[in-house]
Amino acid sequence: MNEVQGVCVQRRADVPTLDSLGPSARAVVRALLLAGPLSRAELARRLERSPASLTKTTRPLLISGLIREESAPSSESRGRPGAPLVLDASHHRFIGVKVTSDELYAVRADASGQVEATGHRVLADSEEATVVAEIVDLVNEMGETGSIQALGVGLAGQMSRFDHTVRSNTYLGWDQVPLARLLEQATGIPTVLSGDARALTAGVQWSGPGRGMSDFAVLTVGVGVGLGIVLEDRVLAGPTGNVGMLGHNRVSDSGPLCARGHRGCASSFLTTEAITQGIGVPLGRVDVDLATAFALAEAGNEVALRVFRDAGHALGVLIAQLVNILGLPAVILAGDGLGMLAHARPSMDAAIAEHLDPNATAPSVVAFTSGFDEWARGAAVVACQWLLVDPPTRHPESA
Ligand SMILES: [Zn+2]
Repeated sequence: MNEVQGVCVQRRADVPTLDSLGPSARAVVRALLLAGPLSRAELARRLERSPASLTKTTRPLLISGLIREESAPSSESRGRPGAPLVLDASHHRFIGVKVTSDELYAVRADASGQVEATGHRVLADSEEATVVAEIVDLVNEMGETGSIQALGVGLAGQMSRFDHTVRSNTYLGWDQVPLARLLEQATGIPTVLSGDARALTAGVQWSGPGRGMSDFAVLTVGVGVGLGIVLEDRVLAGPTGNVGMLGHNRVSDSGPLCARGHRGCASSFLTTEAITQGIGVPLGRVDVDLATAFALAEAGNEVALRVFRDAGHALGVLIAQLVNILGLPAVILAGDGLGMLAHARPSMDAAIAEHLDPNATAPSVVAFTSGFDEWARGAAVVACQWLLVDPPTRHPESA
């Protein structure tokens, strides 16, 4: 057990940490987390390995207790020998934090993304020192009962898949802030940053409603419009981390202006500000928040119903654009603005039908209602994936 600046770090000596594994072992663990339990034959097929080579990799993992045979084999009826392999996720703990403009949401989760504890802080301001101190406080609070292998932080901005620097976060007013290094110095825990919509998508894929789906998108509506894309089992980031810049796509020839001055872009209809101002201004009310907006629509207020109808149209055009380009069979909707669907769904469905290419297949559109803890859980999953895909020893910044 090590005391690192007040953070109690316990490690079981007999189970290796994920970042200590070699590339082959990490690939096995990754496949089991993504799609396990898996028979040895299926695992060998997925990893393009021979059975003998796979046995060589899995034997020490079985001996150490990192993976085990599932007690009730489900595939024997299909004639595959031996019990499927499964990762014992409980030995590996991660903390994930979602940073909004004025709050922190945190979870402690195991390697499979199962949440063990949650935490929350209200930020007094968005100064770097304040945010770092509050995250460290949360880590101290939540890290005591188990070993924390990595910390993941999800927040808005232009970050690569596993980043160390916050770029272009307009909500905090941050750019080029080396948040991961600051947190590593304060906690002693390897830390990685991710765009928040992409982190949410990672959690949805790993152990949420996207589990078992190889291709889908997560489209979020709230303070902004966010997008995460999974293609062929991979969460896309792109060479500069900029995959998913869909929020200012034009969806209408008319409509309100967004904060950047676009008329008829998706954000001008879909963001929380667009909704609340779109309703509040014509009604002469300054007290309209999202809950009020939903209540007004529920009560049949014509202005609110029109705003949500327009928002639904914008959402539908975005979904059709996504599916036309990427051929995605499923789109998962999330975010705190999701309550709009109660009144926006008919116009969303109509816009999808209108804008979908005649040769495209209509996607299934699923609403995933969750709080910001789910975004934090995604950040914890990103931390785990980081250790399995791109271990921190490769980053000179974290040395
Ligand atoms: Zn715009």
